[in-house]
Amino acid sequence: GGFPTNNFKTGRFAGASKISGETQAALETARGGLATHGCHKGCVIRCSGIYNDKDGNFLTKQPEYETVWAHGANCGIDDLDAIAMMDRLDDDYGLDTIEMGATIAVAMDAGLAKFGDAAAAINLIKEVGKGTHLGRILGNGAAVTGKVFGVERVPVVKGQAMPAYDPRAVQGIGVTYATSTMGADHTAGYSVTANILGVGGKVDALKPEGQVDLSRNLQIATAAIDSTGMCLFIAFAILDQPDTFQALLDLLSGFTGANLTGDDVVALGKSVLKNEREFNLQAGFTSKHDRLPDYFKNEPLPPHNVTFAVKDEDLDKVFNW
Ligand code: SF4
Repeated sequence: GGFPTNNFKTGRFAGASKISGETQAALETARGGLATHGCHKGCVIRCSGIYNDKDGNFLTKQPEYETVWAHGANCGIDDLDAIAMMDRLDDDYGLDTIEMGATIAVAMDAGLAKFGDAAAAINLIKEVGKGTHLGRILGNGAAVTGKVFGVERVPVVKGQAMPAYDPRAVQGIGVTYATSTMGADHTAGYSVTANILGVGGKVDALKPEGQVDLSRNLQIATAAIDSTGMCLFIAFAILDQPDTFQALLDLLSGFTGANLTGDDVVALGKSVLKNEREFNLQAGFTSKHDRLPDYFKNEPLPPHNVTFAVKDEDLDKVFNW
């Protein structure tokens, strides 16, 4: 019940099975593409892939979960070929797929196209590529598009569109969206781990309790991992396996010549966040910007009918350590 559908109106998409990872993997394999592929040598997770068109010709690299959601469920579209085409267009034009999916959904709410109309969604992205007046508005993202067309329900924080988890049904990720220095960025503190996946503990996704601590700890760990250049997906392994975390420390120690401990990694993450927060302060950001749009607090999300319930004063404690 946390899969944002039709511009964050419900948390469940009737066409989910048509655009699922399993469906995409089977289609890619049947067409001679690749359902799994390492984006760099030596990766054992291999979350990338190759998506071919129905004639077996390369169309795009495997659209990942966020992209499939953004151009799929969030726009009411359950056609994988159309989603893959939009991914290809985004790549060719240099557009972020999450931001463009959110933008098209806001444009649909504004009446520029109907939810579920894949051909119209593709044409809207082509407007951006052509640089038309409409395309230049859409190309500026969901926040600008919402302002220009007078749409009130625009899922952004600090001007950046939210990704594929509704913060009402996954409240820990809502804390990260609200307080991340960059905007509504899921990777800055992926609370989906303990909220949904049961990785690194378990915190009830539908309730506010425990979400601030969860998001804080993940934001610190993520800032540290990101600054090492490691792929963030190693976090799934190091969160639950002390041996694997030690292996990361050994690797970093060997590379830098320092004898790093777990406390050193935490200190590194905190110092990165402190610098980023300081940059934002100097740029004019205040605690008022560490908030979700009001409708997430006032408008219950079906089917669980929950609102985002983490209090503002608790959001202001995320960076108190
Ligand atoms: S897990 Fe990371 S390094 Fe491996 S394929 Fe995925 S993005 Fe690339």
